[in-house]
Amino acid sequence: MHELSLCAAIVSVVKKHADGRHVDVVRVRVGALRQVVPESLLFCWTLVRESEDMPDAELELECVGAEVRCRACGRQSEITSAWSIWCPVCDSPDVEVLRGNEFLVASMDVSEKVSNMNGCQHG
Ligand SMILES: [Zn+2]
Repeated sequence: MHELSLCAAIVSVVKKHADGRHVDVVRVRVGALRQVVPESLLFCWTLVRESEDMPDAELELECVGAEVRCRACGRQSEITSAWSIWCPVCDSPDVEVLRGNEFLVASMDVSEKVSNMNGCQHG
């Protein structure tokens, strides 16, 4: 499954950066051209995080639109569908993709592993 391998990729990045700390939130930026189904990705994440021993790590998706520059008319356009990568102005398929292929861990929240939170009171 496409989304499952993406989740595995996320986990490997997260684990490297977390370096043994507790992972609270993982924010992933997904370009429109990656053809990722958010619901499917989030579902796979719930499976992967269990097996990777971080069952309460939340996954947040930040979806970014795609942008192309047309070589025929020179216009720069937003495109919303990953299935029709051509210039919406002149219908030329000769376009350069400027963005929309992103798939990366944008940021993450971690907390230090604290074994004894009780008794942490001021005064
Ligand atoms: Zn064009």
